[in-house]
Amino acid sequence: MAELQRVNRRLFLSDMGRRTMAIAVLGSGVLAACSSDGAIAVDDAATGTDTTSTTGTDAGTTSTDSTTSTDTGSTDTAAPTEVSQLRWERVELGFVSAYVLARGSEIAIVDTGVDGSAPAIQQGLEALGATWSDVNNVILTHLHGDHVGSLGQVLDLSPNATAWAGRADAEEISGDVEALDDGDEIFGLQVIGTPGHTPGHISVLDPVAGLLVAGDAINEEGGMVLGPNPRFSNDMTQANASVQRLAERAYETVVFGHGNPIETGGSDAVVALAQTLS
Ligand SMILES: [Zn+2]
Repeated sequence: MAELQRVNRRLFLSDMGRRTMAIAVLGSGVLAACSSDGAIAVDDAATGTDTTSTTGTDAGTTSTDSTTSTDTGSTDTAAPTEVSQLRWERVELGFVSAYVLARGSEIAIVDTGVDGSAPAIQQGLEALGATWSDVNNVILTHLHGDHVGSLGQVLDLSPNATAWAGRADAEEISGDVEALDDGDEIFGLQVIGTPGHTPGHISVLDPVAGLLVAGDAINEEGGMVLGPNPRFSNDMTQANASVQRLAERAYETVVFGHGNPIETGGSDAVVALAQTLS
């Protein structure tokens, strides 16, 4: 939480259920509040709608907001000039999830689900008030078919998007996919190389919003964080080392390719898992 603590010097982030408020405290004690409620995703926009008829799974979206705040003032008396937010939407695709991330008017999609998932992803876009033309980046955590299955369709629908994946996986994914390396930044997200499940697996972290999109580097089941499934993982020694890497970072919320989001205490839960592996 180092980043949040740094930001909180001037910005108190108060999560009031689904309404997130960023409250800037000015030097004289004057309060300025910026409510995000006008931009909150509509929760019931897509729940339970079967849009993936090819797979027979229920597709739906659930919405959660994270708050990204940027300390843009140079002195404690300067009014903040910008409070930008990261908002995100989970696209539930039966056994796997994709995510739609919004920052201002720009969109990144993380993973694309199985073949036929584009209609459900579109619902995620709509819930954030976005369209396909707002999509600038499609980030693939890894090459498995339940994560890249709708890549072609998503790119066909997104005229402004570039697709990205970890270097070792990017070259194995059919289509025009650019390579990312550990330490890169994309869409304001830090790329964390988390190989093992696949050789080029990546996770992405927004350190200010405190959101980790873990892909399949870790999974959730019953409120617990688990390592990747050995049956489907390339190299468990590497995969366990990647869990340790994720345990070294700080984030409140972690979302998974498989399992439900953990919205509070995310990195604590990953640390607990890492301790069982060491
Ligand atoms: Zn996988």
